[in-house]
Amino acid sequence: MSVKADPCSQPSLMHPDQAIPLLLEQVSPVSDTEVVTLPHALGRVLAENLASCIDLPPFDNSSMDGYAFRFADLQQQTEQTALRLIGSSFAGHGFQGEAQANSCIRIMTGAPVPAGYDTVQMQEETQVQGESILINHPKGKGANVRCRGEELTQGTQVLNAGIQIGAAELGVLATIGVSQVRVYRQLKVAFFSTGDELRPVGSELAPGQIYDSNRYSIQGLLSRANVEWLDLGVIADDPEAIRHAFRHAASQSDLVLTSGGVSVGEADFTKQILDEEGQITFWKLAIKPGKPFAMGRIGQAIFCGLPGNPVSSMVTFYKLVWPILNKMQGLTPVEPLMLDATLTTPVRKQPGRVEYQRGILSRNPQGELEVAITGSQGSGMLTSMSLANCFVLLEQYQGDAPAGTKVTVEPFNSVLC
Ligand code: AMP
Ligand code: MG
Repeated sequence: MSVKADPCSQPSLMHPDQAIPLLLEQVSPVSDTEVVTLPHALGRVLAENLASCIDLPPFDNSSMDGYAFRFADLQQQTEQTALRLIGSSFAGHGFQGEAQANSCIRIMTGAPVPAGYDTVQMQEETQVQGESILINHPKGKGANVRCRGEELTQGTQVLNAGIQIGAAELGVLATIGVSQVRVYRQLKVAFFSTGDELRPVGSELAPGQIYDSNRYSIQGLLSRANVEWLDLGVIADDPEAIRHAFRHAASQSDLVLTSGGVSVGEADFTKQILDEEGQITFWKLAIKPGKPFAMGRIGQAIFCGLPGNPVSSMVTFYKLVWPILNKMQGLTPVEPLMLDATLTTPVRKQPGRVEYQRGILSRNPQGELEVAITGSQGSGMLTSMSLANCFVLLEQYQGDAPAGTKVTVEPFNSVLC
């Protein structure tokens, strides 16, 4: 791999690792919370620490269909003991009698193990002999019994504030009997595309026009990020239309997100209007795709301006806007999963910017992780994203890399899948 340590190649570009903390400094988490019932809690951010008010499991129960007995009743010298069958315990309908010496009961998975019994023998390792059950080759005391509180005891903290509630968390909440939870208010994000060349899908294209794709991918990203979104359509490259759109968006949302019009030297009035309407910084970041990015404030809302090129807008959303959204939503940051893989295709790269090339990560027959680049990596070629399942991270001053090089990959996470 060729590496050129030339930090001066594009001196005005800031490394994303340096920029992200500066961007995050500009936002704070929402403080408003609300209580939602479990069916409405998926994807929401928990706003309270939750402790269990019950033991889990709440009672000793069997993990097998079989027979429950007192281990001390087994004849230690023999491989087989006959125990009198005196009753049964079903899930939801426990044994009503008293445990007796040298006895057993029939028991089902999840059924209570009555006081006085301590061990369960699975059915397949028993034989019926008249009124008795033969216990063959017994396991140790306590076998196949799930003891009260073995997973957690009453008062143990189960879920922390700042986590996103997923399917498993819904199940955990239900397991401890919680029917509603306090979550942070959902963020509202208003977004629009800018550009005279853009047409919405469903319309005819005149020469020089293209379909607006960013609004659809942004809508997908925002849905995955579990925010409420407001699509304000395509706004022409017209100063007053843009001014009106910014004001309207800011009055309706916590975050205004736009794509297009933040490149250097282009549509200067966008910058002029943003300067008039808010406090915005235009960043040039050492990332590819996605060099231009704007962030600041319009009225009460945060503003993020993504570049227009479709892959650039997705990558800057993922690397820059998503952490901002996470912080605003009250989420505790989670480090992304990074893996090492071997390139099966060569990589073309100019030193100067950190690159997020799109890759397909797989395991070869030897069980090793390999990654192939998804063909051409133009910042307008959105198929490079849809074919991919990961980013291939290429460091700022690195150049071309041949097949066989070890690289770092970042599998697409829930916001991108
Ligand atoms: P801009 O950032 O406005 O200079 O746009 C850069 C490139 O991205 C141009 O080729 C635009 O036509 C294209 N582009 C801008 N916005 C969109 C959009 N919403 N959907 C698809 N392509 C876009
Ligand atoms: Mg444009």
